Amino acid sequence: MIEFYREKSVFTREEIIEILKDDTKNQWLFSLADKVRQENVGDSVHLRGLVEFSNICKCDCKYCGLRKSNSNADRYRILKDEIIEIVKHASDMGYKTIVLQSGEDGYYTTDKMVEIIKAVKEFDVALTLSIGERSYEDYKAFKDAGADRYLIRIETTDSELYKQMHPNMDYDNRIRCLKNLRKLGSEVGTGCLVGLPNQGIESLADDILFFKEIEADMVGIGPFIAHPQTPLKDRPNGSFTLALKVMALTRIMLPDINIPATTAMETLNPNGRIIALQSGANVVMPNITSQKYRAKYEIYPNKICINDSPDKCRNCIGTKIESIGRTVATNYGFSHNRG
Ligand code: SAH
Repeated sequence: MIEFYREKSVFTREEIIEILKDDTKNQWLFSLADKVRQENVGDSVHLRGLVEFSNICKCDCKYCGLRKSNSNADRYRILKDEIIEIVKHASDMGYKTIVLQSGEDGYYTTDKMVEIIKAVKEFDVALTLSIGERSYEDYKAFKDAGADRYLIRIETTDSELYKQMHPNMDYDNRIRCLKNLRKLGSEVGTGCLVGLPNQGIESLADDILFFKEIEADMVGIGPFIAHPQTPLKDRPNGSFTLALKVMALTRIMLPDINIPATTAMETLNPNGRIIALQSGANVVMPNITSQKYRAKYEIYPNKICINDSPDKCRNCIGTKIESIGRTVATNYGFSHNRG
């Protein structure tokens, strides 16, 4: 199989399934993804500073600690002035991309978001939003205000599983959101969870093909991690290796996109992000949220760095990246995909 696949850059659905099921060729897969990464997006690693600005959410995703039914969550909102302080500090530290992420919190109306976006864009940074499903008009307003990118994972392309995991949500609407963002010319990030209960290997292959079909600019893949205050509390965590394999295959199938080494990977493996950077990833999203809020944005338990400061995270990841012979990028890291 190794010889057969060596020169291939596109796999069929059957081949993807075969590779995902066969753990004897993992090293080959990770090395090939690393080579494809190097040839297409180079050795530099883009840092995206992540601000988790609200953990209030109207959704009830079965896996997520921020789900509205979790009455144990200690809820917070960071308002515009404090967001801007965080962004200013991150920009001073050299961050060239800011990611604003939150639960689906209706407090942040279109107008409030537009104000925040304009204020963030006063700094010399690219801006990604990750605030869930909104209307076409909202996405247009965000784009017009200066937001460059939008991140919304499909989570799973198995529509039946999607329905089970997301009460009162609609798979077709999630797809519509992605298509609307594409239509508006935003850079589009998506991705999936690996290891959800009843998630088949076949559906992971479909996830990868979906990323290709919608021409994603960025794909984030993370293992499911069971949160004790959710209905999935007794389910086993997803597998680090399987998540890494889905990520490596995504790199091979979409050679020039941006792929983060996700924080969830590091939660399951103490060296997870570095391993991911050597298996196809070229992006890291260090947390730049102020320390006092970090522990509260508990989408899953045992998140890394919850007791660290933004400065410590920046230095720590910078050192790790350099230790494997890679460099921290100094440009904005727009998608190669968009030319
Ligand atoms: N409200 C935004 C942001 C969601 S949080 C949105 O809907 O896009 C960001 C990501 O965390 C989610 O897309 C999901 O894939 C991931 N996540 C949530 N709960 C998780 C868990 N228990 N384990 C691993 N990842 C999880």
